[in-house]
Amino acid sequence: MRGPVIAIDGPAGAGKSTVARLVADRLGLTVLDTGAMYRALAVLAQQSGVSTNDAPALASLAQTADIRFDGENMRSVFINGQEVSGEIRSLVIGQSASEISVLPEVRHELVRMQKSIIRDGRFVLEGRDTTTVVAPDADLKIFLTASIEERARRRWLEAQTDQAPSSLQDVVVDVVQRDHRDYSRADSPLCLGEDAVIIETFGLNPPEVCNKIVRLLIGDDQ
Ligand code: C5P
Repeated sequence: MRGPVIAIDGPAGAGKSTVARLVADRLGLTVLDTGAMYRALAVLAQQSGVSTNDAPALASLAQTADIRFDGENMRSVFINGQEVSGEIRSLVIGQSASEISVLPEVRHELVRMQKSIIRDGRFVLEGRDTTTVVAPDADLKIFLTASIEERARRRWLEAQTDQAPSSLQDVVVDVVQRDHRDYSRADSPLCLGEDAVIIETFGLNPPEVCNKIVRLLIGDDQ
């Protein structure tokens, strides 16, 4: 029998990564950050001089890419043996990842890898289609959200620790553009999956959201 799977979807800046790690730590599960896979492929495309709208070239990069996670709670990301954990977090790579993620050829390959990684369970997944496509049979499906202002504010605060901090205006534009692509793409748009529980994170800190998720999992959500 497969171990538990918790799938967490939601728009950029909703707090999925932080919460997924807390839940995984609490329950002794492993995180699969599916967005990091789109980001790692975007880094490879950039290094290979492949444009983000060149679907055939991106499909072939995705088919041959070896994406691995390692380190504490799978925070380190490698593509074809090269560590890209830092590079994948830039605003530019975030935009490129968002652009390549609209391509069905790319999604097909990455979803295939993701399903294979989680086949024995014991994972907390986070992304945009984990409750609907990657693990529609997850034990618990969560849709994490917050207002656009709140999500942009969080992303901006995070960006202040970067070597090249972005302005609040840049971050708002980035979040709006990424939301638009995520909700409007034809293949696996971000949407509320069947039986997914919506958690609005405004006014809740990450440990409080984690507690809510753990209570939902054990059926004690009063
Ligand atoms: O979650 P994160 O911001 O790291 O994801 C990077 C981009 O990858 C997102 O903007 C989103 O468009 C895309 N993505 C996706 N499906 C996923 C995870 C991420 O389309 N499951």
